[in-house]
Amino acid sequence: MARVLILGGTSEARQLAGRLAGRGDLQVMLSLAGRTASPALQPVPVRSGGFGGPTGLADYLATQRIDALIDATHPYAAVISANAAEAARKTDVPFVALRRPPWIAVAGDRWTEVRDVRAAVQELGPIPRRVFVTIGRNELAPFRDAPAHHYLIRSVDPVDLPLPLPHVSYVIGRGPFGEADDRALMEAHRIGVVIAKNSGGTATYGKIAAARALGIDVIMLRRPAAPDGPAVESVDAAIGWLDHALTSATARGV
Ligand code: NAP
Repeated sequence: MARVLILGGTSEARQLAGRLAGRGDLQVMLSLAGRTASPALQPVPVRSGGFGGPTGLADYLATQRIDALIDATHPYAAVISANAAEAARKTDVPFVALRRPPWIAVAGDRWTEVRDVRAAVQELGPIPRRVFVTIGRNELAPFRDAPAHHYLIRSVDPVDLPLPLPHVSYVIGRGPFGEADDRALMEAHRIGVVIAKNSGGTATYGKIAAARALGIDVIMLRRPAAPDGPAVESVDAAIGWLDHALTSATARGV
């Protein structure tokens, strides 16, 4: 049986694991960073926590005799993606990244693209605005420098320490988030601007569609550069890649 490691933390990783779980020719393991308090149930065995950089991941690939590595982490998880590409190169383990295509602005979208969270905060300007923050809970520190605004912050787990801001409320939720629900939430909080990552996919597109319908601004964090290496954009394509990689390895007698 071929041993496959999926680096996860996304709905695509879970879907991919689900599609591979029943196959008699594969032993599939999913790796999570271990940040979420109660992660979604996974259809294959899970290991949790960092590997210790690219060297730790390379050691893991070797000691666990991994035959194929699929990086299905979030497009903004730049460190683990770079580590995965490097570890696969070092160990010669067949490797692919599964990366959802980004959303593309369409007519009616009012997006401003910025390089990072600090730039997003600057883009808010000095006049108080009502801001829906949807970038997770780990990169909120720069908002401390802009206390004039009213914030609604959504995250999967509660923000560890409440931000020292005079006007902030929190909403806890795990996607998918539909357009109608997000629109209702945004209207209830009289949101005037959304800060988002360009995650791609459908699960978190509701707020983008709702912002368009309401004619409000979106400050969109640009994606970090992806490391060099082979990549596919769908679960089907990842399975196609895996079958090809394992067949080639068998033909080479690996
Ligand atoms: P990151 O900055 O790229 O990675 C930081 C460190 O966390 C890595 O160096 C690695 O530690 C560990 N790590 C990350 N993903 C891992 C995985 N799947 N399995 C084992 N270790 C992992 O990552 P991040 O942006 O904090 O994201 C953490 C997790 O949340 C990822 O699984 C990602 O798919 C998921 N996620 C992230 C976002 C986002 O916006 N960044 C959104 C949704 C989901 P070592 O160096 O010790 O190996």
